[in-house]
Amino acid sequence: MAPMQFAIGDRLRLRKKHPCGSFDWEVVRLGADIGLRCEKCGRRILLPRSEVERRVKQVLPRLAPSEIDAFDEE
Ligand SMILES: [Zn+2]
Repeated sequence: MAPMQFAIGDRLRLRKKHPCGSFDWEVVRLGADIGLRCEKCGRRILLPRSEVERRVKQVLPRLAPSEIDAFDEE
């Protein structure tokens, strides 16, 4: 399987739940380690790229600016 490509701003759903209850993370840093920010509690973690690839269950669609606006109105 080809290595996964990540970009800043990508949203990832991991197999393992964060203690806050969220599965969804945003990529905030790239390198040998990938920086992820929990979308629910905002906590940041660093994981080795190989670990991230193993834990990703699904790559989520990015939010379009119009969708972000819609969330703000709720
Ligand atoms: Zn969290």
